[in-house]
Amino acid sequence: MDTIIAKIQNKDSDEAIYMRAAQILKSGGLVAFPTETVYGLGANALDKTASSKIYAAKGRPSDNPLIVHIADIADLEKLTVGIDERIKKVADVFWPGPLTRILKKKQCVPDTITGGLDTVAIRMPSHFVAANLIRKSKIFIAAPSANISGRPSPTRAKHVIEDMNGIIDMIIEYDEVDIGVESTIIDLSADKPMILRPGYITKAQFEQVLGEVFIDPAIQGNVANGVVPKAPGMKYKHYAPKAKVNIVDGKDSDVIAAINHFTRDKQSEGLKVGIMTCSENRTKYKADIVFDMGSRYDEASNARNLFEALRFFDEKKIDYVYSESFSTNNVGAAVMNRLIKAAGHTILYV
Ligand code: AMP
Ligand code: MG
Repeated sequence: MDTIIAKIQNKDSDEAIYMRAAQILKSGGLVAFPTETVYGLGANALDKTASSKIYAAKGRPSDNPLIVHIADIADLEKLTVGIDERIKKVADVFWPGPLTRILKKKQCVPDTITGGLDTVAIRMPSHFVAANLIRKSKIFIAAPSANISGRPSPTRAKHVIEDMNGIIDMIIEYDEVDIGVESTIIDLSADKPMILRPGYITKAQFEQVLGEVFIDPAIQGNVANGVVPKAPGMKYKHYAPKAKVNIVDGKDSDVIAAINHFTRDKQSEGLKVGIMTCSENRTKYKADIVFDMGSRYDEASNARNLFEALRFFDEKKIDYVYSESFSTNNVGAAVMNRLIKAAGHTILYV
């Protein structure tokens, strides 16, 4: 298939891009588009045939449900039941934005996109391209991240092109995304609000609005011990580049010495090594690639660099990746959650 690739440039000509994309979505096709978190791969959410094409394009397991994107809070009523004051308050505070909420679904939401669950994941993105596309196509857009399943999520149009060119109908380009890790998922379908996936919006922020908020125990490193996560997607080995990723934690000087030691070892076997470091330590390493993830105090930069780094290692055919541990403050918790998954849930303490 020939994939249309079109770039939004904040000009009058953009209108034609939105119109073409809307037409494709309404006739059951697939369009990738930027959001503030990562690029999404969209289809008409209420069209079973269209939305099931997403699974084929990504090679995504059918039990891993999709997120439905809306552009107006009022549309929540068309898709979900049981909207109470608590749900309205969370929407008022955090929408539009990088937050996905699990709510009880209405009959019109097809089982194919919810993996057969009686709940549905809904997000109202703040990125103007995503919002325009939803409004102009007058549909709800089911969209997971626009990567081949198991690969790092796309934070730049070129990542989407790598994975999806020739497979989907259209890719809308718009620079780099703002946040770089996927939305926070919070389950509000039951009495206890529970975070199913960490993201830009943190537990502390929710607690200011909701009171006590819980974190799905399965995402705090217990998956390896057989605890099943409530967001089906969290059980898969995601975000992983082809290289073996290793996180090394401990006192700064010990970490640097250990990583340099491991690197020399692997290189002496003829293997290629990539290192993920904070800017502060950048000059202290020697490897095939030393990837600067931004300051150790700047979690937002770490987030924007994470998937970019993992994809870059693939492109450069790196065999082993050694990474420092990064801050778990703010969006840092989401960064470390993804990194730990990429490393197969193991951290080496030195
Ligand atoms: P992605 O958009 O690729 O980040 O994937 C969507 C994420 O939302 C996956 O981890 C899904 O398992 C999760 N998800 C979607 N719908 C539900 C739901 N009804 N209940 C729990 N998790 C969900
Ligand atoms: Mg994904």
